[in-house]
Amino acid sequence: MNPYPFDFHTHCLKATEALISVSPHHFTPEPGKWYSVGIHPWYTTERLGTADYDLLEQCASHQQVLAIGETGMDRRQGADLDIQRQVFAHHLQLAAALGKPVVVHSVKTSQEVLAVRRTLGLTDVILAIHGMRANEHVARQLLDEGCYLSFGARFNPRALQETPIERLLIESDENPTPIEEVAATVATHLGVSTEAVISQTSINARRLLQIP
Ligand SMILES: [Zn+2]
Repeated sequence: MNPYPFDFHTHCLKATEALISVSPHHFTPEPGKWYSVGIHPWYTTERLGTADYDLLEQCASHQQVLAIGETGMDRRQGADLDIQRQVFAHHLQLAAALGKPVVVHSVKTSQEVLAVRRTLGLTDVILAIHGMRANEHVARQLLDEGCYLSFGARFNPRALQETPIERLLIESDENPTPIEEVAATVATHLGVSTEAVISQTSINARRLLQIP
């Protein structure tokens, strides 16, 4: 049993036992660490050029990059939703080509996120919804579409309880709350031990990211 929690989504470059999420411009891999690379929906304010996509592709195929993202859509920030949709679609196609899962940032856009993937015919690409704060109905729908759900310091307890333990991930994101504390809070809401949450979420993350 792995005693260390696996932090599925963090922007902390110093993190270990974690998937470190960076933009292509900040990708400087260190030995023994794992990354996800993508263009955050907040930074889609202008149309991205070929050079941006070339760099993204170059980083995405690196062997320490185990997932694409964070990418996605945000109704409250970033470019017009149409532009965000195009950028997200590009990430999905890249993920499909490389056989890697996608770390998704979605704020009030879960229907759109699922629709983009469906329209592209890429339902085989696995989505991990990070910073899951939506309610249990949205959670159910995402789960029915095969998504993993990653919970951080704040979440809707009913959505958590809706999530099967084998699809559960935990994360710190940009929050100062230590990942152990997130695990403990999740455990309390599920009525299981913190050790069980740490062990299972770590197994889930490694399976999804294909870490041996
Ligand atoms: Zn993030």
